[in-house]
Amino acid sequence: MALEAEAKAISAKFDYTDEDVNKGVREFLRQMNEGLEKDGASLSQIPTYVTAVPNGTEKGLYMAVDLGGTNFRVCSINLNGDSTFHLTYTKVAIPKELMVAKTAEELFAFLAQQIEVFLRTHHEEQFEKHLRRRMTISSPLGFVDEDVFRLGFTFSFPIQQLGINKGTLIRWTKGFDIPDAIGKDVCALLQKEIDKLHLPVKVAALVNDTVGTLMARSYTSPGKTGAVLGAIFGTGTNGAYIEKLSNIKKPMQGEYDQSTGDMVVNTEWGSFDNQLNVLPNTPWDVELDKQSINPGIQMYEKRVSGMFLGELLRLVVVELLKKPHVSFFKDESSDSNDWKSTTNIASDSTLYTQWGLDTAIMSVAAADNTPELVTLRQELESTLHVYAPSLEDAQAFKAIAGAIGRRAARLAAVAIAAIVLQTGSLTNPETADEPVDIGVDGSLVEYYPYFRDMIYEALRAIESVGEEGAKRIRIGIAKDGSGVGAALIALVAAGMEKAEPKEYFADYIGQLRRNAREHALGSLAEEGDDVAARD
Ligand code: ADP
Ligand code: MG
Repeated sequence: MALEAEAKAISAKFDYTDEDVNKGVREFLRQMNEGLEKDGASLSQIPTYVTAVPNGTEKGLYMAVDLGGTNFRVCSINLNGDSTFHLTYTKVAIPKELMVAKTAEELFAFLAQQIEVFLRTHHEEQFEKHLRRRMTISSPLGFVDEDVFRLGFTFSFPIQQLGINKGTLIRWTKGFDIPDAIGKDVCALLQKEIDKLHLPVKVAALVNDTVGTLMARSYTSPGKTGAVLGAIFGTGTNGAYIEKLSNIKKPMQGEYDQSTGDMVVNTEWGSFDNQLNVLPNTPWDVELDKQSINPGIQMYEKRVSGMFLGELLRLVVVELLKKPHVSFFKDESSDSNDWKSTTNIASDSTLYTQWGLDTAIMSVAAADNTPELVTLRQELESTLHVYAPSLEDAQAFKAIAGAIGRRAARLAAVAIAAIVLQTGSLTNPETADEPVDIGVDGSLVEYYPYFRDMIYEALRAIESVGEEGAKRIRIGIAKDGSGVGAALIALVAAGMEKAEPKEYFADYIGQLRRNAREHALGSLAEEGDDVAARD
């Protein structure tokens, strides 16, 4: 049973004990407060200039785009004003070559093209009217403002936010690397490409996906109080939470509404503990980091998020394959193999290439609890071209994948608990009867089986949270969070815009807008349902 013993020993290296979790929380709190005091800390703690969360009564039709790490989503959202919304969207995978394009223009031109396709498909009437009018009326602005979609741009990379629709890129993460874009205003980059295509779209707000998730959850979640944290567990991981203004000690530029006494802070927690004071560090973590494009950075993310878990597993698998005394994915271990063919790894298997193992298969492994692991074995064949894996092979794969996934969930609990404790929500007597609401988004937390259960298990083991505290913490998926959240912030931004000269067109445009809205609602009704997103 060399394989089973080996898998057990490796899995044990991914153990992250209750004691580790508690130590992690203390360090997270320390690094959070360091980030609130000064720039340059591991946790950037970026003020977002968003000082309040929605309450569900917001209304209007908006567009949103989301550049995650894997996909680009374009959507239009109608906020119904009663905690529900209509959403229509399209999603395309971001071509790998554009993630490392020579110029920013190449990537942003692609994004603008996708927006055009979306408008032509889902809002054609409005789009055509705009084109027709552009040809027949010459307005002083070159376009008529009222007929322009306000767009919220969810851009989930570290940004120095300079205004509600202005922010410069600090660094790329998640495998992107276009040096040309660093330091540039990403809204201006997108608007430029949109204008080249003459689209009736104004980039009105720049939104981090975490902030969008927090907003969306506050809009949709029932109860008196909004969410305290929006968190992403997708390609990358990050969180934004509501901080007291008085706790932000470092200087903040720019104007903001001080009346709420709060400020949404984007933690950029992917970089928690880059110095490895408390993060676990197996030989495979070391190797993954060494081979990444940003060694020493995003160290927490490299142990938690979708982009990296599969790669960690792949590195372990490759090492196991090299061990002469272990029969892994080789025929000798297939005595009890009920499938006739010989176990082997096809020469074109992506197991041997960096990023060649998608985290999605870990979800399949975790979900397959049948005695023969038939689904997982089929998945190993179809996605990794490992032919006729034996039951022992699949069991070893499942055990190691499970250990990596479990460690990730327990690390996720560290960030969640630290933020809940930082906000004081568990001890605030005014909200003692309310749940402490947390919105989450991303394929990992959405699809990995028991991810939330494993988070709760760790939360219960945290001294200042415990059974009682964990019961009050409500972690809910903010379905379509980034789209709805971006729309909500575009709404706030639209309210802040200065009035532009428009008397001349007022009536005509008012009618146009009503037509467009009716049309848009009609097509939305065909496309999707009211999404109440309450879970
Ligand atoms: P984005 O980060 O672009 O917003 P997602 O939230 O969909 O996109 O996250 C994509 C990441 O999630 C990828 O790293 C992918 O490997 C991982 N992933 C996709 N499907 C699953 C799944 N079923 N289980 C676990 N991870 C998944
Ligand atoms: Mg996302």
